Amino acid sequence: MTSIPLPMVENPDALKGDGMGCHSGKEQLQAAARAAGKSETLDQYAADYPKGPHDQPQSMCPAFGSLRVGLRMRRTATILSGSACCVYGLTFTSHFYGARRTVGYVPFNSESLVTGKLFEDIRDAVHATADPEKYDAIVITNLCVPTASGVPLQLLPKEINGVRIIGIDVPGFGVPTHAEAKDVLAGAMLKYARTEAELGPVAAPRGGKSEKPTVTLLGEMFPADPMGIGAMLEPMGLAAGPVVPTREWRELYAALDSQVIAAIHPFYTASIREFEAAGRTIVGSAPVGYDGTAAWLENIGNAYNVGADKIELAKQKMLPAIKGALAKMPINGRITMSGYEGSELLVARLLIESGADVRYVGSAAPRTRWSDADREWLEAKGVHVQFRASLEQDLAAMQEFQPDLAIGTTPVVQKAKELTIPALYFTNLISARPLMGPAGAGSLAQVVNAAMGNKRRFDTMKEFFAGVGEGYAAGVWESVPEDRPEFREHYKRHLQKLARQRKAEEMI
Ligand code: SF4
Repeated sequence: MTSIPLPMVENPDALKGDGMGCHSGKEQLQAAARAAGKSETLDQYAADYPKGPHDQPQSMCPAFGSLRVGLRMRRTATILSGSACCVYGLTFTSHFYGARRTVGYVPFNSESLVTGKLFEDIRDAVHATADPEKYDAIVITNLCVPTASGVPLQLLPKEINGVRIIGIDVPGFGVPTHAEAKDVLAGAMLKYARTEAELGPVAAPRGGKSEKPTVTLLGEMFPADPMGIGAMLEPMGLAAGPVVPTREWRELYAALDSQVIAAIHPFYTASIREFEAAGRTIVGSAPVGYDGTAAWLENIGNAYNVGADKIELAKQKMLPAIKGALAKMPINGRITMSGYEGSELLVARLLIESGADVRYVGSAAPRTRWSDADREWLEAKGVHVQFRASLEQDLAAMQEFQPDLAIGTTPVVQKAKELTIPALYFTNLISARPLMGPAGAGSLAQVVNAAMGNKRRFDTMKEFFAGVGEGYAAGVWESVPEDRPEFREHYKRHLQKLARQRKAEEMI
């Protein structure tokens, strides 16, 4: 085992944030991470994933995004370093979503953190895991406290026995959403693979190299969508390339090999930086609905310089089928929608082309130049597009527009149901369907129309439960519940006092 001098840069201040979880102590953790030498990483994240209008959308732990990307890759080991409660939550969620893979964990305590022993433990864990028979790569992730403490993953060996070591920091105080955390890992892997490709020959794709020029697809999508996109590209003499995040290390080389990259999800800033460094052309938006597919085929054809006749041929092959599918499955009704997957604008386009009256689209993802075309198309139809949307903004839109259907995140759906507005979860029910080309054109209508048809059932339920307590009277009571505004006032004052105390401590 190579010996690396033990770095003593860990910052005990990071521990003060431990136990406070993701909901407080953010500034303290940020300051601690900077003091511990993580400024460069945090500055890069701040540039890649701009915040605002508020700090961070209310969504799950960002590290879930990168964890999921690693767990979905063949021959890739995943190790987390963080507080036990964070690791418990992350592994629980991974297995809930059917990961069926081991998640490695390097625990720490205050002593191993402040003495630097944690880094040594991580290094030992990585060495013990690096078996080339089993793995192409090991992903080791610093969660909030080890990042704030400055655990220097960059000092790990770049490879051990031919197994690549990818160390990333994914703190909740630096990466705003789990969607962008996928980009943190995808970008780190592309960077590594690009360096390998520059240094010499690399492995070919499992199914062999495509004979046609390929288009790499950036962003996770429904498994049938890449096949549908392949059929759309075929008349132009092109083929669909790998989807990034990839399912295997060697696909990274094929992804980098495509001359044209389709940024289907527009928030993959670090990945796009790697593709641009490799001299690739990026095309935004996606082949959704009639207008979207026409524009996308044209942009891809032009990026590959295939000639107007071939572009026209591809359009003629696809557009009438899309028009037919949209007309066959119309959607009538007013919809507000929000989500944190980054594909919200594409879904909204499809809903509008199906006939829906969409008033508001909220996305937890940031605005980037690759979402401009979709945003402009939606705004031209009078839709309010809100990037970095907060829960409050999503709820306010629902109150204002009184939709027939609210598509959103769990708390939005919960609130909608309380208001007897039919609602659908974006992640489970909308983003788990084909969106592209003719297959996507009809796929949403079924689920959306069925949900909107449930309005009467909601009204019946509301009538049935009318009079059951809510607010202060919610729950099971033995006596008649009594409102106690003075208790609320007392607790509010208590919280304000704690906040003042914390502020005063920070100033010392
Ligand atoms: S690692 Fe995730 S769960 Fe843990 S404190 Fe940070 S944001 Fe919260």
